[in-house]
Amino acid sequence: MKHADTQSTEAVADVTCDVCGQSTRVEGYGLQYGTLQAHWGYGAQHDGERYEVHLCETCFFGVLSHLRHERSVNTLFDEQTENAAEEFGLVRRDDYFRDS
Ligand SMILES: [Zn+2]
Repeated sequence: MKHADTQSTEAVADVTCDVCGQSTRVEGYGLQYGTLQAHWGYGAQHDGERYEVHLCETCFFGVLSHLRHERSVNTLFDEQTENAAEEFGLVRRDDYFRDS
C-alpha cells in the first residue's frame, strides 16, 4: 500500500507490504518492494477490475515460492531442469540500476 507524502501530492512517503503490513523502506536505500498487478480486460471474468499488491522482499519471495511450487505440481511429469525452477519469474540478474 502506497502512503502519500502529505507535503506533496506526487511523492510517495512509504509503501507498506500488503501482506505483513511492514514498511518496505530499507534505511539508507529507499523503498524496496515488489508488485503483483493485473488489469483485466474484455473477455476476462474480472473484466474492468484492476489489482495492485505491494510486497516486501520477504513476502515477495514467499509468494514466489508458492507459485514455484504450484508450477512444479502442474508440470510434475514434464521435463524440467532444476535451474528453470530456481529462476522462475526471474527476468534479469545484475540489473542494479534498472537501465537495461
Ligand atoms: Zn511483507
